[in-house]
Amino acid sequence: MSLYCPHCGQPTHAGAAFCPATGASLAPSTPALAPPCPLPAPMPPPPLEEYGPGGVILLSFLTCGIFGVVRFYQCAQAYRRELPGAAPS
Ligand SMILES: [Zn+2]
Repeated sequence: MSLYCPHCGQPTHAGAAFCPATGASLAPSTPALAPPCPLPAPMPPPPLEEYGPGGVILLSFLTCGIFGVVRFYQCAQAYRRELPGAAPS
């Protein structure tokens, strides 16, 4: 292990946290051996039935209407599955 200051090259004491010449921090800014942060397990989205009408409206508002469009699209697909004779658009 190098005992020289990476900033000014002066020798430092073993285990010193700061350079004795310049006072610069000797702690590595980015520890190379740090374990990577484990990604949180993705939560599966709850079934739409659990939202209820109020939840759908609230989510639509919070997502600027995107959720409402997705919900409408899913309803349309479910409607098509129940009516196989309907002409596909
Ligand atoms: Zn130094």
